[in-house]
Amino acid sequence: MRDKVEAFLEQVKVRNGHEPEFLQAVEEVAETVIPYIVKHDIYFGKNILLRMVEPERVISFRVCWVDDAGEIQVNRGYRIQMNSAIGPYKGGLRFHPTVNLSILKFLAFEQVFKNSLTTLPMGGGKGGSDFDPKGKSDGEIRRFCHAFMSELFRHIGPNTDIPAGDIGVGAREIGYLFGMYKKIRNEFTGVLTGKGLSWGGSLIRPEATGYGNVYFANSMLNTKGDSFNGKNVVISGSGNVAQFAAEKVIQLGGVVLTMSDSSGFIYDKDGIDEEKLAHIMYLKNDKRARIHEYLEKYPNAEFHKGETPWGVKCDIALPCATQNELHEEDAKKLVENGCICVSEGANMPSTKGAIEVFHNAKIFFAPGKASNAGGVATSGLEMTQNSLRFNWTREEVDKKLQEIMEDIHKSCIDFGTEEDGYVNYVKGANIAGFVKVADAMLAQGVI
Ligand code: NAP
Repeated sequence: MRDKVEAFLEQVKVRNGHEPEFLQAVEEVAETVIPYIVKHDIYFGKNILLRMVEPERVISFRVCWVDDAGEIQVNRGYRIQMNSAIGPYKGGLRFHPTVNLSILKFLAFEQVFKNSLTTLPMGGGKGGSDFDPKGKSDGEIRRFCHAFMSELFRHIGPNTDIPAGDIGVGAREIGYLFGMYKKIRNEFTGVLTGKGLSWGGSLIRPEATGYGNVYFANSMLNTKGDSFNGKNVVISGSGNVAQFAAEKVIQLGGVVLTMSDSSGFIYDKDGIDEEKLAHIMYLKNDKRARIHEYLEKYPNAEFHKGETPWGVKCDIALPCATQNELHEEDAKKLVENGCICVSEGANMPSTKGAIEVFHNAKIFFAPGKASNAGGVATSGLEMTQNSLRFNWTREEVDKKLQEIMEDIHKSCIDFGTEEDGYVNYVKGANIAGFVKVADAMLAQGVI
């Protein structure tokens, strides 16, 4: 079997050898899905995975805008339209200086499986720019978003491709992007998700990824009669996903010990309660401050400059910042310190080595494509509400989100339970996500 996986990866490397993150994402899927394909005649010999790793379309474009000093700036914009077998392309936009084709292709590839897992009719895509929003004025952000959409608009639409937010793209940016789309197209449609409530957004969408991650982790704990109550929880990141993961952990009786940003992490051994979390939301969302400013109000906390929080003793770890932020050595520290559950809020935050450590220790490990699918699922619910021209209540959307996360958890158990009873959620998510997309591709022929 290893030969087949190696031969496949070799083929992918020939075309994409200079894209390490993309190859990492493909390898993780190939290792679990190829053995499944080999055992199932309907998929075998059809080069179905080889077709899935090739994006249907890759769009790259120039984005020119004028900064506050009157200088013309040039950035690069992208949209990867990865797979539309089960629905229009759907996936976020990321604005971060590290954005390149490798990162967006890994995100788009993962998105295909994630969207399939939600059971909603959404294909996979991803996009963004190497634009760095840090330190930019509101006017600069607005001019960049308008310039970006003045090209992207021709490639997207409510039945073609529906972008959303991701790192560096929150409610403010979605507003500017939507405004320009509406102006150019002269139509008011659900072409973006994550919109403001008064203009087509859905309740619970901002909370959905973080809440969904905690719901998923809770479902894992429940299989052993356990829960978040009284558990020490370490969280990385302090953006959208991390903030609402923390909020839900607190609501379920857990104790949040850490949060972070790219400058380091804060460790509050007394626990970050609702009031302290509200302060972090103010610092990050309104003031756009660095995380160490937390200590100005709560001096009992510690700031660890340039470090990640995985050395802090905890029961549960929720990586919610970015890809490859949790390495093999970090995983060993977590396991040694008694961590029983790792649930990814970010996309691919754990390296291959780290995942192996979690699997060998037989602790709960949820890959992002399953555990952070609540965000895109609620985007799907936003699209439905836009089509119906109707809004569901907060309780209705939250209930649907919980049901979707439970269904994804069940799919992972169905496809990922090993002979000894241990649930390999990576295998479960990959195979469950693959089957639906592969069936649709086979039905639609060689296109
Ligand atoms: P966000 O609001 O922009 O927050 C990102 C957080 O991660 C910030 O605290 C940021 O710190 C930190 N971060 C970013 N790059 C980093 C790096 N290279 N090293 C260390 N820290 C870094 O973004 P988000 O929406 O929360 O997204 C976080 C993760 O969740 C991403 O992997 C994203 O793809 C994934 N995700 C998001 C959604 C969603 O609905 N938003 C859905 C599914 C998955 P700084 O402020 O210092 O940059």
